[in-house]
Amino acid sequence: MRAGAAFELGLLIAGGLAASLLIWFGIGWAESLLIALLPLLLRHAWNLFRLARLIRRQHRLVPPFPSGIWGDIYRAIGQYQQRGRKGRKRQLRFFRRFREAANSVPDALVVLDKNRCIEWANPAAQVLMDLHWPSDDGKPLSEVFEHPDLSNYIVAGEYGRPLEVAPAHNRSIMLSVRVAPFGERKKQRLVVGRDITKIFHLNLIRRDFVANASHELRTPLTVITGFLETLADSAQTPAGHRRPLNLMQHQAERMRSIIEDLLTLSRLEMDEEAVDIDKVDVPYELEQIVADASALSGGRHRFQIDIDTELMLLGKDSELRSAFSNILFNAVKHTPAGSQIQLSWSQTESGPVFKVTDDGPGIASKHIPRLTERFYRVDKARSRESGGTGLGLAIVKHVLSRHHARLVVASEPGQGAQFSCHFPPESALTATQIEHPTTNPA
Ligand code: ADP
Repeated sequence: MRAGAAFELGLLIAGGLAASLLIWFGIGWAESLLIALLPLLLRHAWNLFRLARLIRRQHRLVPPFPSGIWGDIYRAIGQYQQRGRKGRKRQLRFFRRFREAANSVPDALVVLDKNRCIEWANPAAQVLMDLHWPSDDGKPLSEVFEHPDLSNYIVAGEYGRPLEVAPAHNRSIMLSVRVAPFGERKKQRLVVGRDITKIFHLNLIRRDFVANASHELRTPLTVITGFLETLADSAQTPAGHRRPLNLMQHQAERMRSIIEDLLTLSRLEMDEEAVDIDKVDVPYELEQIVADASALSGGRHRFQIDIDTELMLLGKDSELRSAFSNILFNAVKHTPAGSQIQLSWSQTESGPVFKVTDDGPGIASKHIPRLTERFYRVDKARSRESGGTGLGLAIVKHVLSRHHARLVVASEPGQGAQFSCHFPPESALTATQIEHPTTNPA
């Protein structure tokens, strides 16, 4: 038995003995009991009221504690209070350290509540987003950082890709903004703004350089190709010059393809989003692409086509044509004669899917993540031989990204390859939602 409980029991026994003694002296049993036990009752009432007052006034319970069971109760509450205080101190220390760490991050960090109002921001948010905390506490983010693109981005709730914005207070910087929902039912948001000015400008310089260089190369190449054609067609050209001339024409044609692809890539890079979005009659486009692929194959491949003729897409027709044809032409170019090529265009649970499967040599897994890099080829010599520019899948990647779609490549050496483009469900249209393209009168 605990000391407190034993003490109380002792008091009760003593009270009982005192009551018996009083009854023996001739006092009535009820009066005897009352006289003997009243001090015990008063002691309990006093300790109870004292404890209630201490707790109400949020006093720390410290020794000396009363004796008996009340001492045990006071001690237990005192220990509980001490544990709580330590826990709170630990929380406060952690919170301070977290604040210090967040304040030393060079990126702007802003916490928004469920109504998209500012709850907290670090000092970097002041420089990068002109957002001052605590003076902007509770204000809507759209009011403090005025940028329609950011407001729409936060409301849309699709945070897969960061948003690039030039803040109104300082147009010379470029921010990459990411949003992460968190908290109860993911209603709160953490906005992270990273200064990407340097990378952005380097990218602009690179893009402009490639675009300008390609453009500048176009004219001299046209002149060279023209003269080569004239020489090749001329009856006065010595017979011994015909082969080198043909080779030069072939290489000039390759160079033209590379320049055209580089210009296409530069154009695609100009805007993140596809502009002039329209209703694209994909089955109609695929019909043309399959005809071109058959011509490229020259009867060396077996084609199996499965197109959902009712399934259309919201997008840019010229870009989609370029992406789909690059994938299908690759299947023709990179597989030997006799290979089978399957093309399908269908609606799936996750949205429209364009898929090209071949039973050619396939691609080793180490190459797959790098296929969309510019000029990346699995087999350089063979790819050049097949007339590839090495830019086809880079174009595909850009086109798909501009359509919020993704490219999935599945392949194993010797098992063929499968390239599929997965479009978001909201980009699908049915044939009734699209007018059929009209043929231009001659
Ligand atoms: P290229 O102009 O060389 O075809 P791409 O960017 O279109 O350039 O493709 C990159 C590389 O991916 C190709 O060089 C080729 O090695 C590989 N590749 C693409 N499609 C296939 C395929 N269906 N089967 C095997 N390899 C392929």
